[in-house]
Amino acid sequence: MRLISSGRHHATFEFGDLRVISLRDGYIDMPPTRLRDEDGRALPVLPPVVPLVGDNLRLSVNAFFVTDGTRSVLIDTGASNNWHDPTMGLIYDALDEAGIDRAKVTDVAITHRHEDHVSGLIAPDGSEAFPELERVWMGAGDTSVFTGRLEPIRDRVVSVSGPVAINDWTTAIPTPGHTPGHTVYDVSCGTGHLLVWGDTVHVPTLQFDQPNVSWELDGNQAQARAARAALLEQLAQPHHFVAGAHLDSPGIARIARSGNGYALEYLAPPIG
Ligand SMILES: [Zn+2]
Repeated sequence: MRLISSGRHHATFEFGDLRVISLRDGYIDMPPTRLRDEDGRALPVLPPVVPLVGDNLRLSVNAFFVTDGTRSVLIDTGASNNWHDPTMGLIYDALDEAGIDRAKVTDVAITHRHEDHVSGLIAPDGSEAFPELERVWMGAGDTSVFTGRLEPIRDRVVSVSGPVAINDWTTAIPTPGHTPGHTVYDVSCGTGHLLVWGDTVHVPTLQFDQPNVSWELDGNQAQARAARAALLEQLAQPHHFVAGAHLDSPGIARIARSGNGYALEYLAPPIG
């Protein structure tokens, strides 16, 4: 897998015969007290490798578009304008910048129900952001989110309750913990795997090195921790890559075992 081009809000990678385009939606600032030890307590001190902006952790927010030239899937959609701070909603600019016509997006896969992943289905003006949308895959435990602003999309939701192929090269895999319906998407190009995850890791400078550190907003912390451990072990194999919603934009990396945890190596320099 290699970077072939990038801009302010996107980066395009070659992955076998597939193209993977990382789309930067923006960022979220969160207090470091969200990080929790195995007893659910906030960490007393943060290692100096964890940067703060003001008093906060700054989490990138990414979505990923994968295409074989004929069939495509958009994985996650950012927050649109459905967040209390206007720090997200750049995905539409990112799509324009990458030359992706929103009217050609028919298939969307969502990692989980939270605003920074699902709200981009609705554009800031209240219209459907993807006018030809046909299918939205989401873990069965999270599909109740399709009410209110998202209600018009509900008739196209495909509920995922076990591993299921959503096209020739993408498999949805339930990984409950952060939310009951949290799902990762395994994109296979024949010679390698790209696992696209949502909220498996929030703070990449800490949680690869110390995977037992969890996040206050993990609905079931033990289950989320176990899911993270299993995914990291899988990713440490050769020919495996990760694309993470909250890894530093553009958020695509390889992972190796290191000490008692893991180390990640980004495949592209930061954007944004
Ligand atoms: Zn998130």
